[in-house]
Amino acid sequence: PETHPDLDLRAHIRGIPDFPKPGILFYDISTLLRHGPAWRAAMERLAARISPYKPDVLAGIESRGFLVAAPLALELGLGFVMLRKPRKLPGETIGLDYALEYGTDRIEMQADAVKPGQRVVLLDDLLATGGTMAAGIGLLRQAGAEVPAVAALIELAFLNGRARLDLPCETLLRYD
Ligand code: AMP
Repeated sequence: PETHPDLDLRAHIRGIPDFPKPGILFYDISTLLRHGPAWRAAMERLAARISPYKPDVLAGIESRGFLVAAPLALELGLGFVMLRKPRKLPGETIGLDYALEYGTDRIEMQADAVKPGQRVVLLDDLLATGGTMAAGIGLLRQAGAEVPAVAALIELAFLNGRARLDLPCETLLRYD
């Protein structure tokens, strides 16, 4: 049973216009994180949504993905793996370059972070075009992981990011 079944998560997310650049409506999860019951409710609801995929470990995308994946992993009694921006991780790493609207970006993980065949559910705070999530999935698969699903707190449905993903995507809040 949920600790706060009636809590409205939407009331704890704020949209900030023109951040980080003009024309972008930024969905700020800071207000959710700073409210104990709302953060707990979000984690409990996401935990219920990803448990059926029977993950062995959870992965999060730097940096707000860490704030979702790490507490969720703790809640589910699972390990947590970091997917990070280039040159942040020590030791042997593997990486994947991916296209942005303008230019390219890269994410990396430690080469030994997941074992081949491990079931890894990947998390981020928000799914927009799906490019970031697709890159994360690609990197985890490169490492030999099986990715049964991905999840995020928020989905910008009008960008149809989930169409870019070839696996289930669980989200708690959809915005049009
Ligand atoms: P995308 O690769 O287009 O799906 O973008 C998703 C990534 O960018 C996530 O890591 C989000 O944190 C961030 N992001 C993209 N759009 C927004 C937005 N409108 N508000 C907050 N974060 C966003």
